[in-house]
Amino acid sequence: MLNLYNLTAHEAARLLRQREISAIELTQSCLERIYAVDDQVKAYITLIPEVALEAAAEADRRRAAGEDLLLLGIPIAVKDVLCTQGITTTCASRMLEDFVPSYNATVVSLLQEAGVVMLGKTNMDEFAMGSSTENSAFFATHNPWDLERIPGGSSGGSAAAVAAQETILAIGTDTGGSIRLPAALCGITGLKPTYGRVSRFGLVAFASSLDQVGPMTKDVRDAALLLSAIAKYDPQDSTSVNIPAQDYTAALQEEIKGLRIGVPKEYFVAGLEAGTESAIRQALQHLESLGAELIEVSLPHTQYALPAYYLIATAEASANLARYDGVKYGYSYPAAKDLWDAYRRTREAGFGQEVKRRIMLGTYTLSAGYYDAYYLQAQKARTLIKGDFDAAFDQVDVIAAPTSPTAAFKLGERVDDPIHMYLMDIFTLSLNLAGMCGITVPCGFSQGLPVGIQFLGKPFDEAGILRTAYAYQQSTDWHLRRAGI
Ligand code: GLN
Repeated sequence: MLNLYNLTAHEAARLLRQREISAIELTQSCLERIYAVDDQVKAYITLIPEVALEAAAEADRRRAAGEDLLLLGIPIAVKDVLCTQGITTTCASRMLEDFVPSYNATVVSLLQEAGVVMLGKTNMDEFAMGSSTENSAFFATHNPWDLERIPGGSSGGSAAAVAAQETILAIGTDTGGSIRLPAALCGITGLKPTYGRVSRFGLVAFASSLDQVGPMTKDVRDAALLLSAIAKYDPQDSTSVNIPAQDYTAALQEEIKGLRIGVPKEYFVAGLEAGTESAIRQALQHLESLGAELIEVSLPHTQYALPAYYLIATAEASANLARYDGVKYGYSYPAAKDLWDAYRRTREAGFGQEVKRRIMLGTYTLSAGYYDAYYLQAQKARTLIKGDFDAAFDQVDVIAAPTSPTAAFKLGERVDDPIHMYLMDIFTLSLNLAGMCGITVPCGFSQGLPVGIQFLGKPFDEAGILRTAYAYQQSTDWHLRRAGI
């Protein structure tokens, strides 16, 4: 029997349009699925069933009145780092446990205009700092393919919700890999748009020069649909770029025959798990059989990406997180002796261990005497990394690489080992430093766990990476496999 929660957005959209199902039925099906499995998966921090059913009823009314928007009535889960008016937005932090925003992030407003039905807010690493979703102040999320394993992070709740079919669509954010890594480890599709493509207004800031919002979906066609809904210039975000969005769904139809795909030799190194590497190599061969041309490229400064990222991201985080002082909003220590005591105790109790580590690292790298040695050096490395990509894109149209060095590891395995945890991002963060776009799609399994391949594209070439990923999915069936939960 077909359960409606099994549908992709494009399948559901067709049935809604033909009046074979209603948005209420679809939303109810997703909610029932959540009630059945979320005790085990723990993807959601906040569920809003009444709000969702009301939005679904409104979508059905709009359709009856003749509106025909593509995503009208389709359920979505939103990472709890985007402000939602009247709905708690915690960033998985004690600091914002009771924070109810008075306005919507632009992305959330755009989704509402499109008639999308929000089911709830998903779990994440605290303030999006992490790679496993274990840094949530509330609870860890479990990987639907193996409940003893991590879903990846920091958008682990959104990835797990899609993989466990607890939603049709999801939204994540990616500062150093937080859409692509969990998407890969949960066997779904995840797209990080070019920096400036999607508005950051109302996105609680982690590292402002790197953060970007993007789709997490069951397949590439859905990613194109969702990106089309949220890719819009926003004057409220000074880094939003006023370049018109392409027709991402139309772009899917173009062939990839003759497409030049770069394979960076620096991404096939020791530390890349054998099962992951073999899945990636097979995917590359498959692309070749579709008529693409594989060209080895070199990104010689790749080794500096991890240290540069963890200097720049922590520096920006230390500045962004200065606002949580217990005065303006968020948690406030109740029994402080004086103002300094209030700041100190509020931040001590409100932030988790990883967030404190980042603030200390970032403050250190920005301090007089160390700024030149660390922060400035990291910015220079960033420019070199960007230069590597510019040179590679003189020769190729897109770049293909593994998304993660290994499949999902066991919960608890790396919590006391930050460096080992940071290494999960080794293949994702260069893209953020260079401000480009990337998409990951499932391409096989390593010991029963999903593996993802990512396609990296030039700035604002979302259409190019989408069509590459789509051609791959059209002739393979990895994206049709569902977690057994
Ligand atoms: N895992 C990386 C970090 O901890 C990336 C996080 C993200 O993209 N938000 O910083």
